[in-house]
Amino acid sequence: MDIKQIKKDFPILDIKVNNKPLIYLDNAATTQKPIPVIEAISEYYQKYNANVHRGVHALSQIATDKFEAVREQIKNFINAKESSEIIYTRGTTESLNLLATSLSHYLEEDDEMIVSESEHHSNIVPWQMACERTKAKLRVLPINEDGTYDTSKLDSLVNEKTKILSLAQVSNSLGIIHDIKKIFQRVREIKQRNIFLIADGAQGIPHLKVDVQDLGCDFYCFSAHKIYAPMGIGVLYGKKELLEKMHPYQGGGEMIKEVTFAKTTYNVAPYRFEAGTPSVADVIGFGKALEYIEQLNFDNIIAHEDKIMQYATEQLESIEGLRIIGNAPHKAGAISFLVGKSHPFDVGTLLDQLGIAIRTGHHCAQPVMQHYNIPGTARASFALYTDFEDIDIFIKSLKRIVPMLQ
Ligand code: PMP
Repeated sequence: MDIKQIKKDFPILDIKVNNKPLIYLDNAATTQKPIPVIEAISEYYQKYNANVHRGVHALSQIATDKFEAVREQIKNFINAKESSEIIYTRGTTESLNLLATSLSHYLEEDDEMIVSESEHHSNIVPWQMACERTKAKLRVLPINEDGTYDTSKLDSLVNEKTKILSLAQVSNSLGIIHDIKKIFQRVREIKQRNIFLIADGAQGIPHLKVDVQDLGCDFYCFSAHKIYAPMGIGVLYGKKELLEKMHPYQGGGEMIKEVTFAKTTYNVAPYRFEAGTPSVADVIGFGKALEYIEQLNFDNIIAHEDKIMQYATEQLESIEGLRIIGNAPHKAGAISFLVGKSHPFDVGTLLDQLGIAIRTGHHCAQPVMQHYNIPGTARASFALYTDFEDIDIFIKSLKRIVPMLQ
């Protein structure tokens, strides 16, 4: 891939921050958007802004056709069986809240659900709230020292009361790729179909080729803004046979078949879960982002990002006093680290002075920080437009600030 050329597609990468050229290494928080995505949003508002599914008039038809065409693109991107298995949400957080609310209807007192110790808060708190509603219990799959899931605990954790298992495919705080396919297989052996298997794909979708059927999950959640698409739009994939039986999340327009004061009946999936006016422009932009990725070829992106990850890891390891948190062999997109005894916030602030954007803190994963007994980490995260020069500048700058921090 010609990264110099690719960078030109992302206007923001050309700006200066603190009088230094921006080196953007906060891609796990959100990715930058290429020109075709930005233009598609503007074109929608200039040429065919209309509400979808509701009008017989021409603009509404165009908007609806484009809106639904993106659903088909997403279906192909993650290899779902049908486009009706793709529900538009506001992002991973809303997808997980939708599930936690809707699946509560299947839970009874003392039922159990499992998440891992390294989950993002949005894959913890909605389940805790479901527990409050239903008096079910949340169980925790611990992690090993290298940040991988401790799968030796799986068989003892899963029992006849376990109804939900929800795990991140890639950890946002440590960048570790988890073999959730293998875990889902094992859990299916123990429980057959009497459990919902959920993947939080927020950090998996930008860096791995996702095939939801091969993964063996019932549900897969992700946010479009992590893959070069606009904020405010995301996906809940769910197996059709499950979605058709599930209770709706929010009530309102679009999600109903018929409303009377005596009784309301609900629409079929996916519309049953899409109450209210959706973010049409963001969906259109999402479609453009998927086209952009496909035109670069996702295999090339993965291969490039792998090289960047390896190079950045080697370079970071060569800095004395720097410690990488989560040393598992299979990682994607992000590296968390600490410099000596310094606070990660200081690392981030000093790098920012040099034009380098990284993230510091607990990365919305406080339990994993408690596991390592640290306040947080500094996290550098990469995207398809990150090149070796970016890493060189980042490492050179780090080497410059390390003595200040010690
Ligand atoms: N899960 C993981 C693993 C994430 O990285 C994120 C975003 N940082 C989320 C969930 C929540 O995503 P969003 O804020 O886009 O809803």
